[in-house]
Amino acid sequence: LPAGMARPGLPGPPARAGFPVAATDTPALLLDLAALERNCARIKAALGPFPHVALRPHAKAHKSSAVAAMTLELTGARGVCCQKLCEAEAMVDGGINDILLSNEIISQSKIERLCQLAARPGVKLAVLVDDAGNVSDLAREAARANIQLEVLVEVDVGQNRCGVAPGPATAALASAIVSHSPALRFGGLQCYHGLTQHIRSVAERRAAILGPVLAATKASIAACEAAGVWSPDLRVTGGGTGTFIFEAETGVFNEVQAGSFVLMDTDYTDNDAEDKVKFEPVLHCLATVMSRPLPERAVLDAGTKALDLGCGPPRFVGTKPGTATYRSGGDEHGIIDLSGAAVESDMFKVGSVVWVQPSHCDPTVNLHDWFVLHRDGIVQDCVPIEARGPGR
Ligand code: PLP
Ligand code: MN
Repeated sequence: LPAGMARPGLPGPPARAGFPVAATDTPALLLDLAALERNCARIKAALGPFPHVALRPHAKAHKSSAVAAMTLELTGARGVCCQKLCEAEAMVDGGINDILLSNEIISQSKIERLCQLAARPGVKLAVLVDDAGNVSDLAREAARANIQLEVLVEVDVGQNRCGVAPGPATAALASAIVSHSPALRFGGLQCYHGLTQHIRSVAERRAAILGPVLAATKASIAACEAAGVWSPDLRVTGGGTGTFIFEAETGVFNEVQAGSFVLMDTDYTDNDAEDKVKFEPVLHCLATVMSRPLPERAVLDAGTKALDLGCGPPRFVGTKPGTATYRSGGDEHGIIDLSGAAVESDMFKVGSVVWVQPSHCDPTVNLHDWFVLHRDGIVQDCVPIEARGPGR
């Protein structure tokens, strides 16, 4: 285990290497290693025609340095994105040294931690800003820590979340970063649009990126050029599992941040996608049928403390659509409605273990301590989800 992981009181791993997956204690998160390898090979092949575009897989989905290390090795990517400082710390502790913190870091204590992390030997860490006061705070602490911190401007390219307006406002904040040299170094622009990721149709998803997102990105680069703070080696980063191939196609983005492709979930499986960017389920929650009060009702030991339901109900592997549907039975129970089922109902006897595909990978992972890595039905290893939790 990485340093700091052997916290007293932490539950031990739910499975043991060499044992059948079905012997895993439930509820537990499973990672299918062969499927993970195929997804990594697919994204690498999809980006092959775009050698100017670097993949920086987002670690917010899995929050595990062991999984990050696998994805870097399999995709050839040099570094990861993190969304939270605790994720970045877990990555560095686990040996992943090249990180884009794709978020703003606010408050004195966090900025101090950020600079301490950036000052560690071999660490390459960049962070986002969308506020001039935050730029000054970062500059002060970076100078105090005797480091140069790389800072990118987050541009609001239409998501209406964080970020400054495209164009002159972006250039003004970039100029503020430049004015704080050498404590800060302007690293480029993040132009990520989260709401486009799950537009189901390929044509509409492509149009959202190649239209408004690209226009806002180009306007921001042009404004930075006019302000004299742009150079072609700066980063233009964005994209997720749903759109990264379109950002790559623009010729303007030089980095993409897809993360969920490593694990997948039903919300991404339900996107229409071209074959070259179709990914397969890697992540499952293994659960046990704890009760079968009626033929048409089974109850699982996986409720909302094991499965996030924000993107709808999860689905069961090996069932036909509409035959076995999940609904919440509370925080420790999942109710399976089997009224539409015939053959499938045999899968849900008391004591049966069931493979559940989560509807949304990131918040589901956040509920668990361990991934159980498996291949050919046998547990290979268990790795900790070090950065799980509220995300400090
Ligand atoms: N980049 C940023 C800034 C994000 O917020 C996210 C996800 O929310 C991603 C990249 C990765 O997206 P996904 O996990 O959907 O591939
Ligand atoms: Mn997500």
